[in-house]
Amino acid sequence: MPPEYFFDKDPLGFNGYKHTILLMCDFDGTLAPIQGDPGKCILLPDIGKQLEIIAHTDNSRVAILSGRPLADIQRKAPIKDIFHAGSHGLEISGPQTRYIHPGAVAVKPIIDKVRNSFEEKIGNVKGILIEKKKLSFTLHYRMANKTNWEFVRKTFYKTISENTERERMAVLKGKKVLELLPNVPWDKGRAALLIIKQLKKKCLPVYIGDDVTDECAFKALFECGITIRVGQSKKTAAQYYLKNQKEISRFLEYINRAACHYVLGEFV
Ligand SMILES: [Mg+2]
Repeated sequence: MPPEYFFDKDPLGFNGYKHTILLMCDFDGTLAPIQGDPGKCILLPDIGKQLEIIAHTDNSRVAILSGRPLADIQRKAPIKDIFHAGSHGLEISGPQTRYIHPGAVAVKPIIDKVRNSFEEKIGNVKGILIEKKKLSFTLHYRMANKTNWEFVRKTFYKTISENTERERMAVLKGKKVLELLPNVPWDKGRAALLIIKQLKKKCLPVYIGDDVTDECAFKALFECGITIRVGQSKKTAAQYYLKNQKEISRFLEYINRAACHYVLGEFV
């Protein structure tokens, strides 16, 4: 079924709602507008404040799940008492929580080798950004001339195929982004389930994201939570959608209202 517009449906207003809301958000393209240079992507103070309020309301908790390394997402969204999941959930930190996927750590030296070789092959193509991460590396080509996109992508895949341990790595495709990461059975969906477990109480997961990497979480939480995609798409597994990233503030206000009204024992 195609997703429905979130604000048409009032999904948290249903009767009998009685659990803590666990708000789980992607970062780039969800909490913050996408930038050509990912380094320039920032959390606006107003959005940070809204998250802070939700995180510190009795009946709601917050988690941010990002493809960025853990340290980076912690820096970009320095909100206390929330869960931060970096590297698509391979590293998680939060209240009484510290997790790093052991299988992923073992593959990192192989990924570094591929990155070095790719950097040598690609030379000085303008507008290409190679982001070194703790457990992976990401190639951003949005800012490169379109005529170079094909060459860059082909070189990326060729470099991987030349490595004898290519099976231990996986490619994740995003919006004008290719990431080489450890081929381990883990994703944002599994990370979301781990965070839910860490809460140690019944909760209603509410997951919002905009990219292909969020689809695993939409699927994992389909039965037990509320899932929202930023941007309408027929191909998504999310139940609801927001029209665009600009609606995030209205969305957070809605979540806060839902959590506060629960405290009062009603939901209007
Ligand atoms: Mg995103």
